[in-house]
Amino acid sequence: METKLIDGKQIARDVRAELKEKVKKAVSAGMKAPKLVVILVGEDPASKIYVNNKEKACGWVSMKSETLRMPAETSEEEVLAKISELNADPEVNGILVQLPLPKGLDEQKILLAIDPAKDVDGFHPMNVGKSAVGDASALVSCTPLGIMELLHRSGIQVSGKRCVVAGRSNIVGKPMARLLLADNGTVTVCHSRTQDMDQILKEADIFVAAVGKPKMFRGEQLKDGAVVIDVGIHHLDDGICGDVDTESCMGKVSYITPVPGGVGPMTIAMLLSNTWQAYCTQNNYKAD
Ligand code: NAP
Repeated sequence: METKLIDGKQIARDVRAELKEKVKKAVSAGMKAPKLVVILVGEDPASKIYVNNKEKACGWVSMKSETLRMPAETSEEEVLAKISELNADPEVNGILVQLPLPKGLDEQKILLAIDPAKDVDGFHPMNVGKSAVGDASALVSCTPLGIMELLHRSGIQVSGKRCVVAGRSNIVGKPMARLLLADNGTVTVCHSRTQDMDQILKEADIFVAAVGKPKMFRGEQLKDGAVVIDVGIHHLDDGICGDVDTESCMGKVSYITPVPGGVGPMTIAMLLSNTWQAYCTQNNYKAD
């Protein structure tokens, strides 16, 4: 069987090109460009890179972006005060607090302070709840949202398929399962306490691996012709890999996302897409 690679880089480029067009249209109709503000507290090197990438990505689609860099010693009250200022600022459409936060800052309290209408990461319980009841105005976590986009744009039907999600984190596994279910998949979620995972994997038409364990899953464990979405990213001495051993899947599965270049590029594209959605809702703007 020929295994097709799902080209996340290209699909992310397509999403960005479409967004750029939409932004251009809104601006030429006299509206302000959408604006994303990222709050970065502390000096975590990986976070700094992620934040720079987000800023760059906004530029690609002609959105405005601003990064508020706050020292690691910043108090919780100061971060909360900044969020409250941004919540009230009509110029700001999206707010994102880069995680992880330095010790001493209550992540949950800070994320809860973000106005759900501006919560472009989709982590606020209001958005999680809206998404769970199928409210289309929900802002949904970017990685699973990007995976749905990869499936749809690759012509992979979810409806009626057996979908297995390995991992149940709040940012990947759980929202992934909700989105697959909303798209009429029959969904099983596996986690560290799951028994007989091999048996469950064998049934998967669509398998999403999000466990954070390098090359944990191999082609032999999967059904012939399965679609494999590899969310994991691991920087090892001999290069970057995912949660799936890609090589062992070649010739066995029908589609697989490469690592790097599969799910990763879609996450930032969906952040832009969420910022656009937030902007449209806040301005009561309907793009055609
Ligand atoms: P996480 O919060 O660490 O969650 C891992 C999940 O995997 C947990 O639910 C855990 O189960 C489950 N798990 C761990 N070991 C397992 C095992 N042996 N068998 C079955 N389940 C197991 O991780 P995450 O934030 O969801 O991220 C997962 C991976 O995706 C990481 O590699 C991360 O770097 C990557 N990621 C990539 C992107 C991207 O843009 N490409 C975005 C986000 C995350 P329990 O709940 O029982 O502990």
